[in-house]
Amino acid sequence: MSKIEKIKKILEESRIYNDSITMINWDMETEAPKASLEYMSKIISFLSRKSYENVVNDEFKNLIYSIDENTLNPIEFKMIKKVKKEIFEKMSKIPVDEYADYSELVANSSSKWQEAKQKNDLDIYAPYLKRVIDYNKKFINYVGYKNHPYSLLLSDYEEDLNVEIADNFFNEIKNELIPFIKKIVLLKRDELNRIKEKFYSRKYDIEKQKQLCKEISEILRFDYNSGVIKESEHPFTTNTGNKNVRITTHYYENNPLSSIYSTIHETGHALYEQQVDDIYEEYNLGGGTSMGIHESQSRIFENMFCKNEKFVKKLYDLLDKYFNLDINYEEFNLLLNEVDTSLIRTEADEITYPLHVLIRYELEKEIFTNLDEEISIENLSNKWNEKYEKYLGIKPTNYSEGILQDIHWSQGAFGYFSSYALGSAYASQIYTFMNKEIDIEKELENLEFSNINKWLKEKIHKYGKYLSPKEVIKNACLEDFSPKYYVNYLKEKYSKIYGLEV
Ligand code: ZN
Repeated sequence: MSKIEKIKKILEESRIYNDSITMINWDMETEAPKASLEYMSKIISFLSRKSYENVVNDEFKNLIYSIDENTLNPIEFKMIKKVKKEIFEKMSKIPVDEYADYSELVANSSSKWQEAKQKNDLDIYAPYLKRVIDYNKKFINYVGYKNHPYSLLLSDYEEDLNVEIADNFFNEIKNELIPFIKKIVLLKRDELNRIKEKFYSRKYDIEKQKQLCKEISEILRFDYNSGVIKESEHPFTTNTGNKNVRITTHYYENNPLSSIYSTIHETGHALYEQQVDDIYEEYNLGGGTSMGIHESQSRIFENMFCKNEKFVKKLYDLLDKYFNLDINYEEFNLLLNEVDTSLIRTEADEITYPLHVLIRYELEKEIFTNLDEEISIENLSNKWNEKYEKYLGIKPTNYSEGILQDIHWSQGAFGYFSSYALGSAYASQIYTFMNKEIDIEKELENLEFSNINKWLKEKIHKYGKYLSPKEVIKNACLEDFSPKYYVNYLKEKYSKIYGLEV
């Protein structure tokens, strides 16, 4: 067996461990009985250790570093580069015992976070969050960083992302969007309240919602041959390779828009996974290339395609057929594109959403600017509230709707939030360039997604992790990432809906 064959075999073993974990997690989130959860967690921790030991060892390291890179084809080269970077340049620099302690801390911290959020009591969680932050600072020192310590965390989720690029992006959002939102949020308020009252005060049969969501996912061309849709508390997508892609949604009796748009969002993620070429799966380069690019695919479906008025018209007819709506199309379109400042990120509309991310970005950057500085969680919470008041004009009145609202920090996922906003920005740029080759609105008007999906496959999806996020944007848009498309898209769209001059 050649060295490359050996490496592929070892990576495949790790993938089998990890895919087993993925399937157990899927089961735990969807159908596993409550009493089974403890044992399931035990299996997961066993498999995680196996997966870690399978690649973090001297034998595998020697194998990887003894390869003559000049003999490799481009796919093999990329595979080796990724292994070096992810396993031997990061993971192995952190002492195993410390990493194990950290994993246990994170598991505890997540459950403390949950309890604290329920009881609205920051004290339960604060010491855990502080330790999670301290560990992350320590890890940054172990791994080392260029220019800014926080850049290392950003690049965990988005290769090549650093503080300089992110600052530039968020400044654009801050300077352009905040004044625009302040104007728009006051418009059509009474009309919107009346529409919401009418739309949300009745019931929409859940069985019918399920049928409708299935019909929509088929319109978007979700491939049921390699995918399933189930239910969970919070919608998500998970997969093992391109032939086993699973998404969930959640149904609310008084709000069919929630299940419809979460199905659309997750279908966007799923299509990305389903359309990766087999050859990259084989070289461990399957799956989406980054959090940001993944989110661009869900958001381009959720916002750019399916909140476009051409699509909304058709969606209105569909909903009317299923539920006999009490509001007309114009009211429906306004409802879907409501702008309102709120305290909760996951409930935010398309245009205020990036401000929630901006706030988290600024706080995280501050936490990880000086690695020796002691952090006070109470202080952090105050800063959180001040920023909400400054940027969105509203202030949390308790911890649960403030610093305790997101699970991410309890899991040590610092650097993650930016990819949400970045995803929407990528999506705007991708849409602009796709529109030069395909008359997108005409496709949407006909509920036709085959050309759109084909374009996405050719330019983005099929490459899996073979192309970096930067290369993906360059390949699809023939230029580097620029935040201006995002700001322009939002301003143009909402000016039209709210009758403002651009
Ligand atoms: Zn998503």
